[in-house]
Order: sequence, then structure tokens, then C-alpha cells
Amino acid sequence: MTTIAFIGLGNMGGPMAANLAKAGRQVAAFDLSEAARARAVEAGCQDADSVAAAVGQADVVVTMLPAGKHVRAVYLGEDGVIAHTKKGALLIDSSTIDVDSARAVGKAAGEAGFQMVDAPVSGGVAAAAAGTLTFMVGGEKDAFERARPVLQHMGKNIFHAGQAGNGQVAKICNNMLLGASMIATCEAFNLAERLGLDAQTFFDIASAASGQCWSMTSYCPAPGPVPAAPSNRDYQPGFTAAMMLKDMRLAQEAARNAGAATPLGGLAEEIYALMEAAGKDGLDFSGVMKLIKGTL
Ligand code: NAD
Repeated sequence: MTTIAFIGLGNMGGPMAANLAKAGRQVAAFDLSEAARARAVEAGCQDADSVAAAVGQADVVVTMLPAGKHVRAVYLGEDGVIAHTKKGALLIDSSTIDVDSARAVGKAAGEAGFQMVDAPVSGGVAAAAAGTLTFMVGGEKDAFERARPVLQHMGKNIFHAGQAGNGQVAKICNNMLLGASMIATCEAFNLAERLGLDAQTFFDIASAASGQCWSMTSYCPAPGPVPAAPSNRDYQPGFTAAMMLKDMRLAQEAARNAGAATPLGGLAEEIYALMEAAGKDGLDFSGVMKLIKGTL
């Protein structure tokens, strides 16, 4: 049977590892947090007390870590994945990280004789628990095909985005679009209200007109039209403004490196940074409506 090492058992990694165990996979789980490890054991994983111990028998390694520096440390360090995993294992990093780190770690893995994919996810903690994440995968086609049966236990939609790093490219470009469209949606609903047009009527019209977008029809930042949206529970997350800001910053860093013009993305980053400066970045990202209305 395929043995899987899972490293990074936080809000997302914990339930993802649990779903692999629930699917009958043997999962050796490691996190710096004792509490996270204990939860993974309760969910059917085997406890490992270091990266080396987790990857010792692994055919597949999955990581779900906060940022690029953690991924570099866990893969490239002396006590890390590349140094201790048996040759031929497949490496899958599902963290959301900068494109350069993803490509650097993928290159180092390749040079050490491993196949590796970057496979960041869309969908939050609820989708991680339900096993309905969307995976955007960068790497060689045959590495993608090897990863697919593992990812299927944790997600519903699995896309091959192309070369190494392209999973991260897809993720940050999608979230840059989402972050900017959410702000535009807030501005439109606020202006409509100021001019005497109520949210439900504007929603009904714009949903059937050319302003239609996901930020409005699935996640409306004005309370009322979409009952399940965070706007109806005072913007409790959901997907926090802090996480959106992280992704907007990654997008701007990548845009600078690529010499691509992203003026709206840059402005959107600054607007979410205002939520951080106000100490309100724990709200859902659609809570940017409060900033626009002047009620933050
Ligand atoms: P988290 O902070 O809850 O979990 C990260 C875990 O990694 C922590 O438990 C931490 O102890 C562990 N860790 C850090 N360094 C480690 C090391 N050297 N060795 C072992 N474990 C280590 O974060 P999260 O919400 O689970 O997010 C993980 C990744 O998923 C991030 O890159 C995030 O951007 C991305 N993401 C999160 C969401 C979300 O809604 N939370 C949605 C999509 C993508």
C-alpha cells in the first residue's frame, strides 16, 4: 500500500491528512505543533516526531505549510524532505507560496531524483474538511498523473496548469482577480444604495446584466441577496482579509519579477492592507464593504 507522509497539520493540512486516512491510506503525520499532531492521530494518522521520521517509509510526501520560507526549510534543510525521503517518492506541496520558491524547490527535487508538483488549493477549511478542494497543479504531466489519485481523496476538481510553479501562478492570478472584483462589487453596491437603489433589486438586475461576477452572485458583500454569504453574519470568515492580503502580496511580487503591469492588483493590495492596519483583517475579505461604507 502507498504510504503517505503529511507535513503541516494546521487548519487546512489537518483535515486534508484526515481525509487521506479516512480513505484507507497509511499516513505518517508531522507538525511542529504537538496539538496538531494529536488531532491527526485521533483522525487515524500515525504520529511522527520529525520530518525525517515522517518521510522514512513514504512513497508520497504532501506538505501544507504557511509560506515559501517554511517550504524551503522543510524540503531543502539538512533534516528535510529531500535529504531523508527514499528515491523515487513523489513530492506534493499544497501550500500557497511565491512562484520563485515553488520553482526553486521543484528544481532541487528534480536534481535529487524526485518528481515534484506544486498543488495549491482553492476552497477554505470547510472544503478541506469535506474533501472538495480545487487543486491547481504545476509540474510534468506524468508527475501530475501520479499525484491525481492522492489528490482525489482531498479534492473534487484537479487541474493540470502546466510546468513547475504554474499551480502557484494559477492560484495567485485567480485570487488577484477575486480580490479586485470583490472591491469593485462593494463599490457598486454601496453607490447603488447611496443613490436609492436597494441591494436586492440591484442584485437581480446586475446578475442578469454584464456586471455579473462570482463576488456578487455567490458571495454578495451586501447583506441580503445571497443568504449563505459572510455579509449576513457581520463578515465572519469564510476567507479572511489577512489570507487575501497574503495572496495579493504574492501576486504583486510575482508581477514585479515578471515585469507585468497590474495596477488594479496593486491598488487592491493596498486596500486589503488598510484592513490589516485597522486590525480588522480577521474579518472575511468581503468585509472590505465596511471599509468602503466607512463603517470599519
Ligand atoms: P496554518 O497556519 O493553520 O497551518 C500551517 C501549519 O504548518 C501549522 O500547524 C504549523 O505548525 C506548521 N508548520 C510550520 N512550519 C513547520 C515545519 N517546519 N515543520 C512542520 N510543520 C510546520 O495554515 P493553514 O490555514 O492550514 O494554511 C496552509 C497553507 O494553505 C497556506 O499556504 C495558506 O495560504 C493555504 N491556504 C489556506 C486556506 C485557508 O482558508 N486557511 C485556503 C487556501 C489555501
